[in-house]
Amino acid sequence: MSTILPIRHQPALPIAQLIREEPAGADAIEMDVLIVGAGPAGLACAIELARLVTRDQAAGGGMADLNIGVLEKAGSLGEHNLSGAVVNPRAFRELFPELAVEAFPFRRQVEREAVYLLTEKRALRVPTPPTMRNHGYYTASICEIVRWLGEQAGELGVNLFAGFPADALLVEGPAVRGVRTAPSGLDRNRQPTATYAEPTDLTAKVTVIAEGTRGLLSQAYRVWQGVRSSNPQIFALGVKEIWETKRPLDSVIHTLGWPLPTDAFGGSFMYPLGPGQVALGLVVGLDYHDAGLDIHELLQRMKLHPLFRSHLEGGQLLEWGAKTIPEGGYYALPDRCSGDGLLLAGDAAGFVDVPSLKGIHYAMQSGMFAARAAFAALKAGDVSGAALSAYDRMVAQSYIVADLYRTRNMRLAFKDGFYVGGAKAGLMTLTGGRFPGGKIEMPADASAMRRSSPHPGRPFTPDGTLTFSKMDAVFKAGNATRDTIPSHLVVGTDIPAEVADFYAHLCPAGVYERVGDQLRVNAPNCVDCKATDVLGPRWTPREGGSGPQYRAM
Ligand SMILES: Cc1cc2nc3c(=O)[nH]c(=O)nc-3n(C[C@H](O)[C@H](O)[C@H](O)COP(=O)(O)OP(=O)(O)OC[C@H]3O[C@@H](n4cnc5c(N)ncnc54)[C@H](O)[C@@H]3O)c2cc1C
Ligand code: SF4
Repeated sequence: MSTILPIRHQPALPIAQLIREEPAGADAIEMDVLIVGAGPAGLACAIELARLVTRDQAAGGGMADLNIGVLEKAGSLGEHNLSGAVVNPRAFRELFPELAVEAFPFRRQVEREAVYLLTEKRALRVPTPPTMRNHGYYTASICEIVRWLGEQAGELGVNLFAGFPADALLVEGPAVRGVRTAPSGLDRNRQPTATYAEPTDLTAKVTVIAEGTRGLLSQAYRVWQGVRSSNPQIFALGVKEIWETKRPLDSVIHTLGWPLPTDAFGGSFMYPLGPGQVALGLVVGLDYHDAGLDIHELLQRMKLHPLFRSHLEGGQLLEWGAKTIPEGGYYALPDRCSGDGLLLAGDAAGFVDVPSLKGIHYAMQSGMFAARAAFAALKAGDVSGAALSAYDRMVAQSYIVADLYRTRNMRLAFKDGFYVGGAKAGLMTLTGGRFPGGKIEMPADASAMRRSSPHPGRPFTPDGTLTFSKMDAVFKAGNATRDTIPSHLVVGTDIPAEVADFYAHLCPAGVYERVGDQLRVNAPNCVDCKATDVLGPRWTPREGGSGPQYRAM
């Protein structure tokens, strides 16, 4: 047995590439507010901002029209979004007070729910912990939510630029002045082809980074500006499938225990999406100890359990996908989410409550706060960090921080393993987070040591009906990447064979392979889940429209 310390093999964040202290090009597109990322955070921000302007103008407030732009790396809205999802409708109600809940893009209301502790053959129903209660919430597809929010934003005059990944922040002194997009039409050697389109600069008085989990620009901004947090951000990887099923599911189901080893944190979900359709997935903390752990494979094995098999057998896999989730909670929140000309919203800031597996309503709420802060700053003609810090105060006084504070140590307690963590989490629930007191220190995931065994366990052979290989899975993600684009993954040098194995197990999309003692990288397979950006090779934006084409995730 040997050990791997992932951070030793991880290249540094390419800050000089991501933060550009240079003026925008002469053809730059001028915006008042530019939002990076058309997820729930970015689109809620755009909608709220457009409405604030309309309301102000109607009330004679004198606000000029604003040019609001949203950049999205997916070819069309929703194609790069993946969630569970059970949605707390709170932020929808606040953003659309004029609409009845039936008008929201939800699938069905949660009427029943159950939590099980699994062993390989059995499922023991356990009482639903208060943090996991979803009664009265709604199951939904985040792709549908995003498409719907995009329509609302479009109707309000927001400019939606799909297929335009932001590649770098344009800065002047400490101020963010806009972004530069990634070029497209390059060949493998970065030479322009006939379809070459050069990067576009977009300038803005306020740039809102709402790029989701493990955001590259938000990481770069924080390093560049020295924005810290009490604990480093940590992540989980969620692998998810959508199935057409013969047997209806009427409950929201969560499971703990098998197939995870007891020293890994995580659990599974199975949600009814309507008659004959379910979403199921497995979420695992990336601080797991066994370098051979393969989350895609664990999900495949999990489907053979009678609890899942009885629903899936005879059905059909419709879609597959993967994405990371920020799991650090309260102690991993940045000291500030505002700066000169800049705001951070949603997962990019880490607004996720892990015990309840909720982030959508926090993302939307933070997007609305960002809109209010940007609006007030523009109206006052002052977009300095001091003016935009109103955003931090709104977040701090809201249910976002209150909820994350209540569960502040729950995820962190599981670093000592499932049973110790479960006992501590129980006490935290009973005492509203007060016991055990103090902050649990967490290292960054890449600084957690892994055990690497030279004798891997039994290989798993998918049957192609109920269980699938990574290659089949990527196909079901609708991956649309041109085979001939330059690699967007920055891999360390001299990767030892056991680290190549570790990456191969980690990546759910089969991007990394160990061939002999070498690492082979099949970059076009990447579905942008960002897991290796957390633990290994760095992810950077690539030609717009590359990556998955999720439809109902
Ligand atoms: C497996 C899983 C299950 C979950 N279950 C639930 C649940 O049941 N309920 C719940 O409330 N939450 C759940 N969450 C969390 C929830 O999905 C997120 O908190 C939420 O989607 C965050 O919204 P966001 O707008 O901040 O980010 P995202 O939804 O990730 O949107 C960010 C957008 O930015 C785009 N983008 C990224 N980088 C760039 C770039 N450089 N240029 C241009 N565009 C870019 C992305 O393509 C994406 O469209 C789950 C998450 C996962 C992964
Ligand atoms: S290479 Fe792409 S798909 Fe694989 S883990 Fe990294 S981000 Fe995810």
